[in-house]
Amino acid sequence: MIIELENIGVRAKEIDESIAAADIGLDTAGACLEGTVRFRGEAVRIDGKAHLRGTVQVAAKVDCSRCLEPIERPIETFFDAIFVSSDMMPEDAETVLADADLDESVAEGGIIDVAETLREQILLDLPDHPVCSETCKGLCPKCGGNRNLIDCKCEENEIDPRWAALRDLK
Ligand SMILES: [Zn+2]
Ligand SMILES: [Zn+2]
Repeated sequence: MIIELENIGVRAKEIDESIAAADIGLDTAGACLEGTVRFRGEAVRIDGKAHLRGTVQVAAKVDCSRCLEPIERPIETFFDAIFVSSDMMPEDAETVLADADLDESVAEGGIIDVAETLREQILLDLPDHPVCSETCKGLCPKCGGNRNLIDCKCEENEIDPRWAALRDLK
C-alpha cells in the first residue's frame, strides 16, 4: 500500500491493512514473520507533518540467542511515524534530519510505502538478545550440543590441570 503525502489531510483517514508476511520481506538473521501482518491506524496531518500511526501486529519467531531454538514472539507495537516531503526540505536536508526527531523521515518521491514502514517498526520491536528461558543453558562450546536437551559431559570430562597436579601427588 502506497499513500501519497499530499493526500494526507488534517482529517484522519482510517487504515486497516493486512499484508502477507512474505511481502514485508523481513530479511534479518534469527527472526522470521508468519502469516499476516496487520496494521490498524490512521494517516493524518498534524502541524503540517504527515503521521502514519497505529498498531502493527504479526506472529513472529526469533531464535534464542543462547541455544538458537526458535521462540514464538508475537509482535504488537504502536508507532507514530512522521513524514515530511523531500521538496519541503531545505538543501541541506541531511543536516536538518540529523538534528530532527529520529522518528521523522523524508517521504521519497512524496509517497509513504506502508509495507516498508511496517517492516522498520517490526525490526525496531525485535528483541536484541532473546532467550527461550532465563535458565537456558545454551550450546556446549565443545560439541555444539544443546545443553537444555542433552547432558554431553564435555565439561566434566575436562580435567582441571590444577586438580591433575594434586592427583599426581597422591
Ligand atoms: Zn535457549
Ligand atoms: Zn558438549
